[in-house]
Amino acid sequence: MKKILQSKDTSLSFEFYPPRTEQGWDNLLQNIEKLMPLHPSSVSVTYGAGGSARTQTNKLVLRIHEESRVPVVPHQTCVAATRAEVRNIMQQYQNVGVHNVLALRGDPPVGEDNWQPPADGFKYAVDLVRFIRAEFPDTSIGVAGFPEGHPEMPNRLLEIQYLKEKVDAGADYIVTQLFFDNRDFHDFCARCRLAGIEVPIVAGIMPLRNRKGMERMAELAAGARFPAELLRRVEEAPDEAAVERVGLDWATEQVRDLLEHKVSGVHFYTLNSAEPTLEIFSRLGLVKP
Ligand SMILES: Cc1cc2nc3c(=O)[nH]c(=O)nc-3n(C[C@H](O)[C@H](O)[C@H](O)COP(=O)(O)OP(=O)(O)OC[C@H]3O[C@@H](n4cnc5c(N)ncnc54)[C@H](O)[C@@H]3O)c2cc1C
Repeated sequence: MKKILQSKDTSLSFEFYPPRTEQGWDNLLQNIEKLMPLHPSSVSVTYGAGGSARTQTNKLVLRIHEESRVPVVPHQTCVAATRAEVRNIMQQYQNVGVHNVLALRGDPPVGEDNWQPPADGFKYAVDLVRFIRAEFPDTSIGVAGFPEGHPEMPNRLLEIQYLKEKVDAGADYIVTQLFFDNRDFHDFCARCRLAGIEVPIVAGIMPLRNRKGMERMAELAAGARFPAELLRRVEEAPDEAAVERVGLDWATEQVRDLLEHKVSGVHFYTLNSAEPTLEIFSRLGLVKP
């Protein structure tokens, strides 16, 4: 990943999550097949909160790794993990030749205000980055960044310092939370550079697909400021199909602007669907022969 992001071309990557049902797996594998001809520079796989969801991450990572030539980036959270558990998972990836990870803290269980990590665990993502860098020095490590700010940290100056700590601890690049206003991303990059953060910053993009999805994103709090112009267009949309077209138009223009600004990378949160990403690539002429 480090090498890919050092290229002068904008890297284009996709994110998937491990499905919970057989049908979800069938659907995802079909969609991965549709997306591979777009030649993503990498794909990433999220890490779930529950026990079985975690083994599913491993299963999906290995499957993509074995069946395609695309570099895979497993996400790894540390919110409830011990060092031994993380070491074990990372070792499994190393053994099969997966040398990438997106190192995240994850979210504490809902309602646990006084949550503490396990005794032999990690409090923040920076501790996980330090651990992986020390134990698996050849791994390319990405970390999360929040153009609109992280909901737990109202102090935006401190937040960038904490992000810098993750980079100083060994992170090679940053992937951002989704955003709908590119000005937030460009300003975030400028603030990072002012703070001395020099690593590539990859923009996270998720096309809006329907009104329900919009409400869900608003509830998730991190990364869902809808610009007034987008809200107006959604409000004027006569039905859900029209909302989907609004979302695609909006995301396409976001990606066009990011490419024009020659950003290091654009990361598509696919939600395991192929169509929106295929459509954006086609509209922007990004489909390679
Ligand atoms: C690209 C991307 C992918 C993601 N993938 C997943 C996934 O697969 N699975 C999943 O469960 N979640 C995922 N998340 C969500 C993420 O786990 C949560 O947003 C989490 O709340 C923050 O994770 P972090 O790695 O940024 O944590 P951290 O960097 O640890 O930051 C968490 C909070 O603590 C603050 N902080 C950091 N250091 C300190 C310090 N020393 N003292 C005080 N405060 C500090 C930060 O400012 C921030 O508010 C993803 C997020 C992004 C952007």
